Amino acid sequence: MARNIDGTELSRVMRAEMAQQVAELHAAGVTPGLSVVLVGNNPASQAYVASKTRACEALGMKGQTLNLPEDVSKEELFAVIDRLNSDATVHGILVQLPLPSHLPYKAVLEHIHPDKDVDGFHPQNAGLAFVGDPRAFIPCTPAGILEMLRRENIPTRGKHVVIVGRSLIVSKPLASLLMAPGPDATVTITHRHTPDLASFTRQADILIVAVGKQNLITADMVKPGVVVIDVGQNRVEDPGSARGFKMVGDVDFDAVSQVAEAITPVPGGVGPMTITMLLANTLQAARARVTRSQP
Ligand code: NAP
Repeated sequence: MARNIDGTELSRVMRAEMAQQVAELHAAGVTPGLSVVLVGNNPASQAYVASKTRACEALGMKGQTLNLPEDVSKEELFAVIDRLNSDATVHGILVQLPLPSHLPYKAVLEHIHPDKDVDGFHPQNAGLAFVGDPRAFIPCTPAGILEMLRRENIPTRGKHVVIVGRSLIVSKPLASLLMAPGPDATVTITHRHTPDLASFTRQADILIVAVGKQNLITADMVKPGVVVIDVGQNRVEDPGSARGFKMVGDVDFDAVSQVAEAITPVPGGVGPMTITMLLANTLQAARARVTRSQP
């Protein structure tokens, strides 16, 4: 039976470590600040944004949400981002995705100043991360997965990591980080057009699944002893629960747990680590600002 990789507990430990750094900044007169821009009323986005700002406040950071209407124009959204870019009390800016289809999300993300881009989605940060420059903000989910593997003493050097999905937000930066000197993994990326997906997933020492499709990975698709990181977040009906739904990942958790050595649950795996790395990036942004302002 697989060992559970508990992202909630790892996050608790990391946030306790970060609290010390926040206290040091407070002593220097700085409160790290994160501003989240939320466009529209998507309930899932509202829930994600609320948990991000709550986590900020719990750590002694300032977390604020700017709610904009669904039909906000590109110009109005850019004006809000301009204001946050020039606000010295705001260290990190995040525009919650997905955006309504009339808004060009790439242009919106590029409008955030790279020094405040704590999601790490600006092309400047993506490029810095790709060349291994420590000034980069690493996107929070890939950073959280790397931290999770490190803290769980799961070696990556020489291991075959198979990633399912090729998104810019999760899979591409993750592949780049894992193949870099240090982690030293051999990485295979698969996607929608990969024929015979199982023939790849069965080769994985570490299998990372970021697709958004319930039960995509079944027990016959993994080899015994694999480590499984399930990034997927799928809302499924659950009439028995108060909310009427529950969250599940992309992996058939119960069946794959019988075969794997370790596995992340959904919820309670990658999700809390993503928020923790957002806090870490906001802290990094605040510290970098303090350093820049020193003579
Ligand atoms: P995305 O941009 O939609 O990417 C999904 C990827 O899966 C695409 O590359 C797609 O291929 C690939 N794909 C689709 N069907 C496939 C199939 N049958 N076999 C193999 N690959 C397939 O999504 P994302 O932003 O990476 O997110 C993926 C999932 O992770 C979602 O459920 C999301 O909610 C979740 N997520 C969770 C966290 C967290 O903190 N826990 C953070 C981010 C995302 P194509 O490129 O060919 O379309």
